[in-house]
Amino acid sequence: MSDQVYQDAITRVRRIGESAGVNNEVIEALMHPMRTMVASLPVRMDDGSTQYFTAYRCRYNNALGPTKGGIRYHPDVNLQEVQALALWMTIKCAVVGLPYGGGKGGITVDPKKLSRMELERLSRSYVRQMADVISPDRDIPAPDVYTNERIMGWMMDEYEYITRKKAPGVITGKPLSLGGSVGRDDATGRGAYLCILELEKKHNWKPEEITVAVQGFGNGGYHAARLLHDRGYKIVAISDSRGGIFSSNGFDVPSIYKEKQATKQVKAVYCTHSVCEQVEHTAISNEELLELDVDILIPAALDGVIGGHNVDDIKAKYIVEVANGPVLSDVDDTLHNKGIHVIPDVLANAGGVTVSYFEWVQNRSGYAWDLATVHERLEKIMSESFNRIWDLAHSEGRSMRNAAYTHAMRKIGEAIEAHGTQDYFSMRD
Ligand code: NAD
Repeated sequence: MSDQVYQDAITRVRRIGESAGVNNEVIEALMHPMRTMVASLPVRMDDGSTQYFTAYRCRYNNALGPTKGGIRYHPDVNLQEVQALALWMTIKCAVVGLPYGGGKGGITVDPKKLSRMELERLSRSYVRQMADVISPDRDIPAPDVYTNERIMGWMMDEYEYITRKKAPGVITGKPLSLGGSVGRDDATGRGAYLCILELEKKHNWKPEEITVAVQGFGNGGYHAARLLHDRGYKIVAISDSRGGIFSSNGFDVPSIYKEKQATKQVKAVYCTHSVCEQVEHTAISNEELLELDVDILIPAALDGVIGGHNVDDIKAKYIVEVANGPVLSDVDDTLHNKGIHVIPDVLANAGGVTVSYFEWVQNRSGYAWDLATVHERLEKIMSESFNRIWDLAHSEGRSMRNAAYTHAMRKIGEAIEAHGTQDYFSMRD
């Protein structure tokens, strides 16, 4: 993520907030991250040496509830990125009506270079430094890029060790056996899929006539592609960090997933039992994938992949943002004017935090739900949120992103204004 990402994020908030007539005090509150903790984590390495890793936790805004957001392990993690991600979490939780503010955390580290035991020590060290910040009622982390349920389990364990009590609600995305929720694994992809189902209803789409390109075949991208494929959508392009594949006939997503598991590569094969056959396809780059003439483009890997450098070449009719921040704010208007509809990250990938919320509710009530209940409640929240934003966009002539931000800022604004703003305090009785 570029160093500009935070600047880009707050510029978008200010621009949309002002255009929607949001109280300036509310906009200002969203320009100022509430509390950011920076720590150095000493970790004993396997060779006996000690290495220090820089770690962050940002509680961006808690007007609507305890702060919530993932922890990312990546060599590029920095303060600006963590604050931008925490701001987007603030907006996202408000868009889907969760009783949370926004937060985020991260460690500047290449986790692939650590042994399993080094990774465990690093994760426990993070919690030792952040134990005063996180808590089930204050700030609740979750997984993000290169963190997973095992790491969440280590972190919960360390927190419970420090506080001397069971506290499963301190973190979400845990293994099922440690208080995780069923349905969390595919929740992000499913949330995006549910948004596309709403579009399908509005446009009377026949799935087999709709082409889809997916950039990134990880947790978010794979599950979105799998669910769309199951419904009959034509997945014509898929990529991962090594490049992509294209076939106008569409791919069999399960067989590509199976191959990816076996070879760590996205390959165009069709498998019956253990026999795999090569399917006719073209190898494409990640840049070419973004410029395909498809009905739906799903960026599900990196931020900032659509910007001034390629916006003129984007031909998709819909962009459904599974990744956080794949479209830079300075091309929002260009896309809107080109008639390209963006279902923004703060709505399209909100399925993950929604099921994290379900996990937290289950932990606090001590009562686990079944998968059907999780799916039904996720569907209700995604469908209602989508339609609320759709209606606002259409009634006020806004893009879906603009409408999502407007709705979120109005909700956050109501909570801030309830405590009193300048209008109230400057008024004489
Ligand atoms: P992941 O690590 O499971 O998958 C990432 C995928 O992107 C992998 O297939 C990887 O090969 C691919 N990739 C990496 N570099 C690439 C490149 N240069 N070009 C193309 N592909 C590349 O991660 P994920 O959990 O699916 O997250 C992806 C995005 O979705 C991130 O922006 C993340 O913040 C966002 N997101 C994820 C969740 C979630 O619950 N997983 C929730 C909300 C948002």
